[in-house]
Amino acid sequence: MTPAQDMNWSLEDMARYPFLSEVKDYVREEGPSIEELLEGDGWGPVRRRGKERVMEALEDGQVKIKSMRDEIDQENELFSYLISKMLVSSIGDDFLIRRYSLGEVERIVKELAREEKDEKLLNIAEELDIRSRKEDEDFAVFFAHFLENTERLRSPDWKLVNQDLKDGDVYLKKKKFIRLLKEKVFSSIHGDLPRPVSDIILKTFDRQMEEIREVLEDTRTELVDLDLGEVEDELFPPCIKNLLAAQKEGHNLSHEARFALTAFLRKVGLSEEEIISYFQEAPDFDRELASYQIEHIIGEISGTEYTPPGCALMRTNGICIDPDSLCEQEWMNHPLTYYSFKKRKEEESEGEDEEKEEDEG
Ligand code: SF4
Repeated sequence: MTPAQDMNWSLEDMARYPFLSEVKDYVREEGPSIEELLEGDGWGPVRRRGKERVMEALEDGQVKIKSMRDEIDQENELFSYLISKMLVSSIGDDFLIRRYSLGEVERIVKELAREEKDEKLLNIAEELDIRSRKEDEDFAVFFAHFLENTERLRSPDWKLVNQDLKDGDVYLKKKKFIRLLKEKVFSSIHGDLPRPVSDIILKTFDRQMEEIREVLEDTRTELVDLDLGEVEDELFPPCIKNLLAAQKEGHNLSHEARFALTAFLRKVGLSEEEIISYFQEAPDFDRELASYQIEHIIGEISGTEYTPPGCALMRTNGICIDPDSLCEQEWMNHPLTYYSFKKRKEEESEGEDEEKEEDEG
């Protein structure tokens, strides 16, 4: 049985996991002053990387892992995290804050999966206030901390009754343990934003904010104003097909699942009545309640039409179900991207068939 040992975090660890508590002390003791960071010539690469992190999160749905050769690279990476938080906070847009947080979390999960020593994962869990220890091949997590951090994970895989529970601990395999850490990392990054920003920060980043806003609007529009032609449900991504099947079989969908499903169906072009026709196949269908919920999501009641969640959030919510090989592509970051890709492929192959028929005719 191995509990977490006290750990001295290296600079490289802090750069990879900037939520570690030692980071604050390091920044205070070793970091540049805010003026130097914002205006100093030597800190240009840090400011550029800070903006790059935000752009990567917006455009690709994840911040890329940066290779760090020496301490200078490690410091730059660490301080660039501060810059990206300043940029995101200066804009203060909810969609940006969520997308940026998810982008950082996706990077961190990859880093965690690459860790060779389980001891390090235990120490990171401790930093995140998750009590855990290693027992044989499993990670034993204090059940109250398991419950606290799986609230949003609705798949049966995460229900307490389906866990290996002994003496108040839940036993998890490494992959699932990292998934649990991911939940906590997300709430710690997302919950820390937006940070207060000063006038000097707003003034310094005026141009960068403008550039980020442009990409932000493009990303938002991409997800909001799609024209995908005729709806073909056989081309829906696995997550949506599974949610529809679960709905049809009368399973009680979580709020997140119903939201994702309705917002997706709306974005691919279905009317309220058509969405209801999908929902009314459920045995416990309540037309009035369904209409109310759908009208809320499609903006009839709230005035805001909601955008369906991307893959990262679907995963966080435990409703990225049975992802297939297309889902595993590096650029796949949204169920709508999956669907529009499939639609495009189908149109291309129809076009080729027509050309062939013409040639043969
Ligand atoms: S990867 Fe994305 S598109 Fe694929 S199943 Fe998961 S959420 Fe759906």
